[in-house]
Amino acid sequence: MTDEILHEKLSYLGRNLKSSLIRELLKYAGSQDAISFGGGAPDPETFPKEELAEIAKEVIEKEYKYVLQYSTTEGDPELKAEVLKLLHRVYGIKGLTEDNVVITVGSQQALDLISKIFLDSRSYCIVDDPVYLGALNAFSTRFPRFIAAPIEDDGTNLDYVEKKLKELESLGQLNMLKFIYVVPNFHNPAGVTMSLEKRKRLVELAEKYDFLIIEDDPYGALRFEGEHIDPIFKIGGLDRVILLNTFSKILAPGLRIGIVIAHEKIVRKIVMAKQAADLCSPALTQRMTARFLQRYDILEKIKPSIDLYRRKKNTMLKALEENFGHMEGVKWSKPEGGLFIWFTLPERYDTMEMFDIAVKKKIFYVPGKAFRVKAVKCSAMRLSFCLPPEEKIVEGVRRLREVVEIYEKKMKEVKTV
Ligand SMILES: *Cc1c(COP(=O)(O)O)cnc(C)c1O
Repeated sequence: MTDEILHEKLSYLGRNLKSSLIRELLKYAGSQDAISFGGGAPDPETFPKEELAEIAKEVIEKEYKYVLQYSTTEGDPELKAEVLKLLHRVYGIKGLTEDNVVITVGSQQALDLISKIFLDSRSYCIVDDPVYLGALNAFSTRFPRFIAAPIEDDGTNLDYVEKKLKELESLGQLNMLKFIYVVPNFHNPAGVTMSLEKRKRLVELAEKYDFLIIEDDPYGALRFEGEHIDPIFKIGGLDRVILLNTFSKILAPGLRIGIVIAHEKIVRKIVMAKQAADLCSPALTQRMTARFLQRYDILEKIKPSIDLYRRKKNTMLKALEENFGHMEGVKWSKPEGGLFIWFTLPERYDTMEMFDIAVKKKIFYVPGKAFRVKAVKCSAMRLSFCLPPEEKIVEGVRRLREVVEIYEKKMKEVKTV
């Protein structure tokens, strides 16, 4: 088939789909001697494989009529009940019923369904700069107008958001603003956490300017240090906030279990959109997750992973200090949880351009440009500390310094030519 013939046949969306930049960049990250700070996946050694294997065998043998059958679009009632209990324990959220819950195929499906039910090409939505790529991809399929708000050490720059809201108001276009999407805890990729003051102010802005808040919190339970901060959902409630959660980072992403907590009217719309997408999520992995939660205390179970990630994070922070502490204009986030550090070089750097050198030195990262609404030059990069062993983290940061030094030299050469 020629490209022309295919192009003729494709929809507007089909024509505009682009392959994932991250996938392209990290193609060789698994090669021998390579050290990758690129991936965003949890460490497979943290997966409770024996427990899940036993449960899988058990439910297939004993509950085959349920787990091998079609199930309800809303999700396994047993899993929903466990999820409600967990929300109470983790966040102190009470008063929800099963009508406020939908189980999706990972949070990614939730993001896709949310964009389907809320966004058109005339819609506005506010996201962070940098933004979680999975959300950007999902929203982009609806071709909305993005407003990208810079991220600061304590979360989204709400002065910037308010300025944009006032602009929309003066243009008479506030009614086309649908939602803001935020990752308040241990942001992917920025590594920062939104302060309680900002969470409260965000809800006030949402009330005043009438928009929804999509709160995506895959990492909330992966806190290494510092105090738990109330979720925006707890402050804003069902009328303002849609809370997304997932078992991908605290259990296993292969189960593909995402959770949407929302007003029951929104839940109904999401369920209808999901019906069109896949009829239902797999009953098998939902029931496995329900049984796992009934049998084990997941918050206890993740403690060793939290210890492991904390150690790796500290190792990376120490290596960054040792290698880059002396360099002017360099900074990095110091996450209190999650999987990522956002590492920013002085503005003259272009981490995408520098990537070629990194590949030669067999050190991989994700250039900041990959996380921007408008893929413009960026001097930052996302570093993930979750996969490499500690000695590789130390060696990887050392290689990164070499890469930066070589790139710096090249920039100087170009200038003098
Ligand atoms: C990892 C991650 C998710 C999880 O996606 P799943 O589809 O549930 O695996 C969602 N949001 C953010 C910000 C993430 O980093």
